Amino acid sequence: MKYALVNNEKVEAVKGQVGICSVCGSTVIAKCGNYKINHWAHKTKQNCDAWWENETIWHRNWKNYFAVEWQEKIFTDDATGEKHIADICTDSNLVIEFQHSAIKPEEKISRENFYKNMLWVVDGTRLKNDYPKFQNGTFELIGKPAEPTLFLCHNPQSAIPKMWRNSNVPILFDFLGLEENIPQNDIRQFLFCVLPVIVDNKAIIVRMTRSTFIYNVQNDAILNYLNNLTREIPELYRKLKNMQTQRLVQHQLRLRYTRRRFSRRF
Ligand SMILES: [Zn+2]
Repeated sequence: MKYALVNNEKVEAVKGQVGICSVCGSTVIAKCGNYKINHWAHKTKQNCDAWWENETIWHRNWKNYFAVEWQEKIFTDDATGEKHIADICTDSNLVIEFQHSAIKPEEKISRENFYKNMLWVVDGTRLKNDYPKFQNGTFELIGKPAEPTLFLCHNPQSAIPKMWRNSNVPILFDFLGLEENIPQNDIRQFLFCVLPVIVDNKAIIVRMTRSTFIYNVQNDAILNYLNNLTREIPELYRKLKNMQTQRLVQHQLRLRYTRRRFSRRF
């Protein structure tokens, strides 16, 4: 964990310090070595948050964009007493989970049910095939090629990892991970959000810049932002279908015209 309680204050790990875990109340020890990022560790992990995963620099980088008060917020289910730490929880109680490790489908669903109002940011670099598969997806622009850009993904079954398809909450892929020296015009500089909607068995993807996402989260407006985009989809899709129908009619007209000429000549 990035934070523990020392004299009732939420503080980062400093070498030699001892703190209290804000989830389970047990003693945690500051780990400040050369190999792992500074963190607080339990003497024994039992009875603490079973969903907690060891943090990577990728996690930390993401969390650090947001207010300290929003980081590592504890959620308690009043009925069962179940407690979990959300990576980020905004003032409007939107939870953002940064997911690097593999996660079981049951746990993913449990987390979504527990937090309810949430979205995931997934490290798309952990598995080496996820990005090439995504790149090979068939994407069709809907609406204008502006920021953000909306796409229909015609083959979500092959382009989007199974785990993150058909979700009930938005899923954002970060295909850049910790890679440096990636050109500014590389597509991985964007984040790709799979919206929780399916249109004719196609997924809807929002391509947005990192700064758009970060700015909207910092202003606690990301859910509104995504909801507004989602509301536009039926109309955009209808226009796209109309255009496709027109193109088809034009194509058929041309064919008929060609056939007519053909029959006249012979
Ligand atoms: Zn604990």
